[in-house]
Amino acid sequence: MAYLALYRKHRPKNFDEIVGQRAVVTALQNQVKYGQIGHAYLFCGTRGTGKTSTAKVFARAVNCLHPVNGNPCNECELCREAESGFNVIEIDAASNNGVDNIRDLREEVQYTPSQGRYKVYIIDEVHMLSTAAFNALLKTLEEPPEHAIFILATTDPQKVLPTIVSRCQRYDFRRITAEEITMQLRRVAQAESIQADDAALAYIAAIADGGMRDALSILDQCHAYYIDRTITLADVEEVLGAVDDRIFTKMTDALIRQDVAALLDGVAEVFDTGRDALQFVTGWNGYLRNLLVMKVLGTRQAGSALSVPADSMERLADQAGQTGRNQIAGWIEQLARLEMQLKTASSRRILIEVAVIRLGSGTYEEEFIPAKPAAKPAVRSVMQPSVTKPLPAQIQPTQVQPTKPKSSGSDRQASGNTEVQKFVDAWPRLQDELLRRSPNLMALKYSQMKAGDGPAELILTANMPVYYNQIEAHKEEIASFILEKTGTPYMLRVMKSDQPSGMSWGKEDFTRHIHGDVNFK
Ligand SMILES: [Zn+2]
Repeated sequence: MAYLALYRKHRPKNFDEIVGQRAVVTALQNQVKYGQIGHAYLFCGTRGTGKTSTAKVFARAVNCLHPVNGNPCNECELCREAESGFNVIEIDAASNNGVDNIRDLREEVQYTPSQGRYKVYIIDEVHMLSTAAFNALLKTLEEPPEHAIFILATTDPQKVLPTIVSRCQRYDFRRITAEEITMQLRRVAQAESIQADDAALAYIAAIADGGMRDALSILDQCHAYYIDRTITLADVEEVLGAVDDRIFTKMTDALIRQDVAALLDGVAEVFDTGRDALQFVTGWNGYLRNLLVMKVLGTRQAGSALSVPADSMERLADQAGQTGRNQIAGWIEQLARLEMQLKTASSRRILIEVAVIRLGSGTYEEEFIPAKPAAKPAVRSVMQPSVTKPLPAQIQPTQVQPTKPKSSGSDRQASGNTEVQKFVDAWPRLQDELLRRSPNLMALKYSQMKAGDGPAELILTANMPVYYNQIEAHKEEIASFILEKTGTPYMLRVMKSDQPSGMSWGKEDFTRHIHGDVNFK
């Protein structure tokens, strides 16, 4: 029997089952209920928020012979035929973006349905259409046949022609909260008899970053690995890391050899095996950070900074011996930039392919020029002992100042900020307490608290964009917890540690990344 992915199997069957989009769903359901159906809809929102699922439910509901409270019955002839593409036509604009595709569509639209009232055209990733195709589509939207309903879905509404947008009823799908994702994961796990503890599910929800599909895919992966026992938080971390260990090693080998063909092969493997593209790039960058730490600190010191198994250490040491520090830093910068682009992009594969071609042919160097150390604002870093030791002379970074630069800023902080520093020192203990109270803040584990510039300012730096989004979304909760514990209304700022800046790496950058580097197994 063919295995059906969890996110397909648990696609919402009616409006009530759509998670986290109450406002959109109520509006659409009412339209069906009161027979006020439009001809053109625009569904906007990031990936995995339920645009396509909602479109499919709506498409069945408008033709259903026995709708119940605006919901499709899923049993009548027309509901069942909708599943096989009858009266519901799905078009992926990412691969059918030419004017000819839309001309074919316009022709098709003229035919009335043989059964049922409507034909529903779902055009996914509509922003990918060429200008000519947009104009052709506009003509249809200006005078749609009575029986046609268009649902245009996009992750990037800015790129949709304003004349198209103005013809549509627009619905914005919000990111699904970690709590809502956790609840849905719990429901699916129960339905599938998958045992998983709360922390594991909360962590999956945090990693999924507002997208239900990603969350269910991760649960699927974990279940495949631990099919006969309860999935724990450590298991999830293990799966997210271990699954990709081999591919990261292979990709990094190819980078070192500057072998573009092997890099493209690797990208093909990632997509062919259905891995999540963003997760892959984030993971690979984590791997490269470890490689950089290995390069800078050497095997002995890196051992205490990286918690990776012995065979991984050996591979890292081997690879570190074959490449340069600035080269690795350059790759990391480029991949961090790629990570951000992927967050909003739909043509992910092309973006990744272009990026690896540039990395593998050395063309990134034009952009990544290791400049002289810029005058950076003094950062009060909470250094770990292993890092404050001087680096061995032979691997002393050439562009790194061996001692921490003194500035008036750091002097001022050293004298006036002791209360804040006391708080920062106490933070690990407080953080544990907060995590026990709110497991959904698991992203905090991958962040560092430090003193800011102001007298009562705190800076919480997230190691990866996914964690940043999580922490930012819960900033108020964290701030009120801190207020409750200290009685001081600290100003809390949340920052990303992966800001692409094109600067060369200073010692503090290494420190930052070493801090952030415990996630890889
Ligand atoms: Zn029906």
